[in-house]
Amino acid sequence: MPRPFKTRRIYGEFASDYFKPRGRRLSELEEIHLEADEIEALRLADLKDEYQNDAADKMGISRQTFGNILKRAHKKVADGLINGKAILLTPAVSGKIWCRNCGGTWAETDLFAEREQCPICFSNEVELEARHHSGHGRRKGHKR
Ligand SMILES: [Zn+2]
Repeated sequence: MPRPFKTRRIYGEFASDYFKPRGRRLSELEEIHLEADEIEALRLADLKDEYQNDAADKMGISRQTFGNILKRAHKKVADGLINGKAILLTPAVSGKIWCRNCGGTWAETDLFAEREQCPICFSNEVELEARHHSGHGRRKGHKR
């Protein structure tokens, strides 16, 4: 059963959720906010090569809405890459996932909480990094 989307924004707390041109300060850059539904659309359509009908079903929206979201997401990413802007990913982050197979890490979010597969190598050998670094106190005050 699909979870409801949460598009909570968290600013400034999770630096790794930014993509920005190298060697330039964030404060000098224009920011693009990639919303949770746009990130999910990119993940399903571009990363997982899902048909738009299937992807729309998974997100609980119509195919046309999915197409609009995906188009918006592509435009934002292209704008960021080509015009050298910072891209901010806005879903709420609840932890970091680590892939034992390729060593990749990514943020677990409310949106992607059901993910049990590495988005890079598609291995199922993934685990929550937080389990191995408890006592790492940088996230004080962060609640789900
Ligand atoms: Zn991997």
